[in-house]
Amino acid sequence: MLRSNSYDYIICGAGCAGLSLLMRILCHKNLADKKILLIDKEAKTKNDRTWCFWEAADGFFDEIVFKKWDRISFFSNDFSSPLDIAPYQYKMIRGADFYTYCFNEINKKGNVEVVYGDVKGCKYDKEWIIFKIDDKEFRLLDASTQIFNSIYKPAEVKKGSVKLLQHFKGWVIETAKPSFNPEEATMMDFRVHQQHGTTFAYVLPFSNSSALIEYTLFTKNLLEDKGYDKALKSYINEFLKIDEYVIKEEEFGIIPMTNERLSFKGQDEWMIGTAGGQTKASSGYTFQFIQKQSQQIVDYLAANKSLNNLPETPGRFRFYDNTLLHILFYNKLPGDQIFSQLFKKNKPRQVLRFLDNESSLLEELKIISSLPTWPFLKAAINQL
Ligand SMILES: Cc1cc2nc3c(=O)[nH]c(=O)nc-3n(C[C@H](O)[C@H](O)[C@H](O)COP(=O)(O)OP(=O)(O)OC[C@H]3O[C@@H](n4cnc5c(N)ncnc54)[C@H](O)[C@@H]3O)c2cc1C
Repeated sequence: MLRSNSYDYIICGAGCAGLSLLMRILCHKNLADKKILLIDKEAKTKNDRTWCFWEAADGFFDEIVFKKWDRISFFSNDFSSPLDIAPYQYKMIRGADFYTYCFNEINKKGNVEVVYGDVKGCKYDKEWIIFKIDDKEFRLLDASTQIFNSIYKPAEVKKGSVKLLQHFKGWVIETAKPSFNPEEATMMDFRVHQQHGTTFAYVLPFSNSSALIEYTLFTKNLLEDKGYDKALKSYINEFLKIDEYVIKEEEFGIIPMTNERLSFKGQDEWMIGTAGGQTKASSGYTFQFIQKQSQQIVDYLAANKSLNNLPETPGRFRFYDNTLLHILFYNKLPGDQIFSQLFKKNKPRQVLRFLDNESSLLEELKIISSLPTWPFLKAAINQL
């Protein structure tokens, strides 16, 4: 099944992290000719997700950005306002466009072998790497192969571990009448019922009659499928005041929000993407963290620097994330109140920088002091 028994790089998982890394390798003059094996359990043909993120300049995947917004808005019962996010733009990339774009590039290159199969394990044995794909075993010459793995396996629940699920259902709808302002996206709308825990909707309009509407929860358990449909329907009627529409596409997703320490350094491989801890525990945002880490990895590889020294997320950001996660998990404060205070009392660009793990200590102190002191202090002490 494999064409060769030795590769420079093996990438397990052709999702966001695997392909973001591979595309950067192929674009780098020092690395473009490396022999690469890419393995995924299935061909990436479906529009299985939509990525939203903010960025201050053109990004590596700007060519396939489906829609950008300069203005976003925030709603809650306590605070509602348009948010001036300059210098950032809020951007959206459709999964299907991302996969097509990457595989068009990959298929032009003779040095990337793509294999479809279920990766069941990988271990080092003297000078060999033994790979189990489906029920077959492959022996690959170790030489100096680097393995990058984005296959997420939830860790066992340990004492003190906290795990919420960010789960959401989205509909792309088309309305009979003009119903949206295509220049403005709703990032979070907390006016929806908070009976299950932190719950919000967001609206990403593509035109005045078409938008992706998502209903999102941060809770311990999923809802029954009809619960999401009912909530979406009622949000569209009650808050968007839309009666006539057609559902064109559906999306469902679950993102783990956990204080488990998922690290870049795996046992015999480098862990990337969600599997390598690139999902921000308190928000679920991942796309931009993957982009930043892919660029760092490629810079290190091109400069022949050891990946052992690749910088990890600064500890203080993990501490903030775990504190917030603790508060949400134990219902110490409602999420709608926390996010309202964040956006009400701070400049949006500072909040976004904070959520990107790029703020200065001074900015962080200001942001932390805008939140209710006691619950955060108690949760912080608990983390220590
Ligand atoms: C529906 C959805 C919407 C999201 N929206 C956003 C967003 O708007 N913004 C944001 O920042 N983040 C978002 N995320 C979170 C995150 O960005 C994505 O999950 C992202 O795809 C993570 O990248 P990844 O490479 O770690 O995992 P994936 O993209 O899931 O890639 C993992 C790959 O591994 C393959 N695989 C799994 N198991 C095996 C196996 N045993 N053998 C072989 N291959 C295997 C899978 O088929 C997949 O292709 C979203 C997630 C989901 C699910």
